[in-house]
Amino acid sequence: MSYKASAADRRTAEDSQTDQALMCAAHGCPSRWSVDGPMGRCCSAHAWGDRHLWPRITQELAEAAMQRAYEAAQRQGRDEAQPSRRTRTATPAERQRIAAVLAGMARKTGGLHWAKRLLLREEAGEPLTQSQREMWRCALRVPNAMAADAAKALLIEHKQAA
Ligand SMILES: [Zn+2]
Repeated sequence: MSYKASAADRRTAEDSQTDQALMCAAHGCPSRWSVDGPMGRCCSAHAWGDRHLWPRITQELAEAAMQRAYEAAQRQGRDEAQPSRRTRTATPAERQRIAAVLAGMARKTGGLHWAKRLLLREEAGEPLTQSQREMWRCALRVPNAMAADAAKALLIEHKQAA
């Protein structure tokens, strides 16, 4: 099941000037509200979605918002560096910048749970897109070449050390 953001929801927290009052009432939702209904001021996905599906709707919207932010940041670096090359892996400097963009968004929304979920999905053998595979590694600051199970082990190790 997928919840596509409507055009009205699309101007999301990616815009750093976004006023909290404009945001969807669902906790951690990255979209702006567009429907003033019984659940409060929500984006269309939350307004029309069953209440028990809200956490899942939030997850999918957060992941989609992160993906747009990731691809926009990546595109920006690419246009500046080598406009002719369409696809390539981000350089270390670009990864630093993209990771900062994702961390900024994560502070405003549901944290980095989306990235950990992508890791677990990849580890479980689900085929992810190249953007998805790169963006969770970027957000969790693990090397692009690292396998999902090794990355999970590394994160668990870091958590125990902290
Ligand atoms: Zn919402």
